[in-house]
Amino acid sequence: MEKELLEKIKKQLLEEERSLVSQLSKIAKREGQDWEPKYPEFREESSPGSWKDEISDEVEEFSHLVSIEKALEEKLKKVKKALKKIEEGNFGNCELCQKEIERERLKVNPTAETCITCLKKYEL
Ligand SMILES: [Zn+2]
Repeated sequence: MEKELLEKIKKQLLEEERSLVSQLSKIAKREGQDWEPKYPEFREESSPGSWKDEISDEVEEFSHLVSIEKALEEKLKKVKKALKKIEEGNFGNCELCQKEIERERLKVNPTAETCITCLKKYEL
């Protein structure tokens, strides 16, 4: 792959990594390589009598938060993997057939792990 394009993709990935980490740090805390969702703090102004509603709201909010956290973490893992591939010099090759992934595909989605042919073939 052209050095210029690779540099551009690397920059894009580093920016995405930074933005993912900042989003994650708002809703989760770091545990080594992983992230653990933070339980939202109970609101202090909760009026007496409505505590049951409050709690079910909190639980709902938390499960929503967990799914967001999981999605962000998954994305971050992919970004890190792509950056590692760039460092190792094997970025842009399909994980299934080892051929080069289409440039256009990588421009849109730098964390793509397979080429379009494999994507269609295996319906990934
Ligand atoms: Zn392939």
